[in-house]
Amino acid sequence: MKTGSINVQTENIFPIIKKFLYSDHEIFLRELVSNAVDASQKLKFFASNGEFKGTLGDLKVEVILDTTEKTLTIRDNGIGMTEDEIDKYINQIAFSGAEEFVQKYKGKEGAEQIIGHFGLGFYSSFMVSDKVQIKSLSHKEGSKAIQWESTGSPEFTIAEIEKTEIGTDIVLFISDESAEFLKKDRIQGMLDKYCKFLSIPVFFGNKTEYIDDPKGEKDENDKVKRVAVEVENQVNNVAPAWTKKPSDLTTEQYNDFYRELYPTTMESPLFHIHLNVDYPFNLTGVLYFPKLQENIEVQKNKINLYSNQVFITDNVEQIVPEFLTLLHGVIDSPDIPLNVSRSYLQADGNVKKISSHITKKVADKLASMYKNDRKDFESKWEDLKIFVQYGSLSDEKFGEKAKNFSLVKNTDGSYFSVEEFKDKVAAVQTDKNDKVVFLYTNDPIEQYGFVKKAKDRGYDVLHIDGPIAPHWIAKLEQTYENITFARVDADTLDKLIQKDEEIPSKLSKEDEELLKPLFEGAVNKEKFTVQFESMNSDDAPIIITQPEFIRRMMEQQKMGGGGFMGAFPDMHNLMVNGNHDKIQSILSESSDDLKTAKIKQLTDIALLSQGLLKGAALNEFIERSIEKV
Ligand code: ADP
Repeated sequence: MKTGSINVQTENIFPIIKKFLYSDHEIFLRELVSNAVDASQKLKFFASNGEFKGTLGDLKVEVILDTTEKTLTIRDNGIGMTEDEIDKYINQIAFSGAEEFVQKYKGKEGAEQIIGHFGLGFYSSFMVSDKVQIKSLSHKEGSKAIQWESTGSPEFTIAEIEKTEIGTDIVLFISDESAEFLKKDRIQGMLDKYCKFLSIPVFFGNKTEYIDDPKGEKDENDKVKRVAVEVENQVNNVAPAWTKKPSDLTTEQYNDFYRELYPTTMESPLFHIHLNVDYPFNLTGVLYFPKLQENIEVQKNKINLYSNQVFITDNVEQIVPEFLTLLHGVIDSPDIPLNVSRSYLQADGNVKKISSHITKKVADKLASMYKNDRKDFESKWEDLKIFVQYGSLSDEKFGEKAKNFSLVKNTDGSYFSVEEFKDKVAAVQTDKNDKVVFLYTNDPIEQYGFVKKAKDRGYDVLHIDGPIAPHWIAKLEQTYENITFARVDADTLDKLIQKDEEIPSKLSKEDEELLKPLFEGAVNKEKFTVQFESMNSDDAPIIITQPEFIRRMMEQQKMGGGGFMGAFPDMHNLMVNGNHDKIQSILSESSDDLKTAKIKQLTDIALLSQGLLKGAALNEFIERSIEKV
């Protein structure tokens, strides 16, 4: 046996490693298992190019937990290491990497992620171990098996051992304060998280499976009995969907993979996008379009980032634009720098390219779906719209493309592109300023009366709802100069779509002056502005509206935008239709009391139809109405 000292200048590097990497101790397992996978892949490669002439057994990685000895072993049958190699890769290179790391990142945030990138991977085992052994037999002919051992000081020992199988065992003597890593469930959880899609089979102990009794014994129902058998527990799927060719996969297989990624999700995704780029950066992945519900926050941050099938993070915020975080799935890229700070990542050229590539891919996919099967696209629109609207609002390039596949739906349930709808309604819904007015409702039931009046007049009304619809409408108005949106209950139809022709009013100035205070007495003056309008005689006698801009302000305020000091006043207009017979008949009432009573009744009906008559006022109205029966 020999002893030696690891080539290191910084004294007591281990305490520093332990301290700075404290927040994420569990990644030691990822580092060691992926080293083992690398060693196996290398042997496979050497076998294929003839450098290794021995027999290539079933390559696999085993994670072995021994709670009595308090050890955790990561075993592979990969290339192994000779004594020289251990000296080179472990004593010198790995450690100088560790040193560099410590010098550079002392105390900095996010240090854990850097670990694999400075050759500190292997040394992360000392975060959880009192002692680490490497037992290795190199694949090179005539190699001797050797054991390297260190307790986490720069001193190590190296000795020849008996080992007949090619490959490496890394044996961790887990320290008392890291006893959690001697728990089976804890290890299984870590393997599920980091190793689920590694490219070489990874096994961890056994698991129970139920199979048909091999002896064919039957139960009381004459069915073959099910019996429990212990089988090797493979933790990973070595060929996840994103590593395959799209042409080799069916939709069903993509959906199966979705459930593999999100075992607790019952829903199938709407569709998927397979990413495959090799220039100017490497990136593969499968993104899924989930069925989005209204609450978009809960859907976010489900994309997992991998590097060569090794899980890195499920926080891709800095890598893809925010609206894309609504998607689910996997991105795998060895080219994304994982070892740097947020601000650096945002400025990184590759990251920018990756992000714009994904955006483009997603937009292209939507465009081709729209083009190839319009009906199918329409059937998915209600789930897509939040994403498309969100994307259009937050990403200019996406917005530009989304113009071609953004749909609007009318109250009859037909879908149109914005251009199509414009062409459809332009003849009747163009106002005197040459703007095509898109009438819409966000609630066809609540605004039924308004919708009906508009349709009776030959107008088409859109149904636009959803949490970001107000912002999206504003965006469309910016995009299309000659389109303007108006909610059906924002004003009278004649005001919403102003034409040149004026309807003459039957009310004189004096009539209006006489009636105005009476109407003002019937409502809360602070909240309602009384106006006289010359509408059609078939319009309602009184219409209560909320001006489009007030409502938009209030909506934005509700969503946390707007930036107003204090609350925006919830104002309505009370529009009196001077041409309606009932208003004319009020004028001819003999006394003010009779006039007031009629006005009260008409006003209450108008309020009621808008859901604005409540409490005592509603009760009074009901009692008064009953009396009249
Ligand atoms: P990295 O994997 O980033 O190079 P590590 O510190 O994890 O850094 O490992 C250093 C080197 O030790 C590896 O590059 C590899 O050459 C060698 N090594 C580590 N683990 C194994 C293993 N299980 N089998 C063969 N070689 C290994």
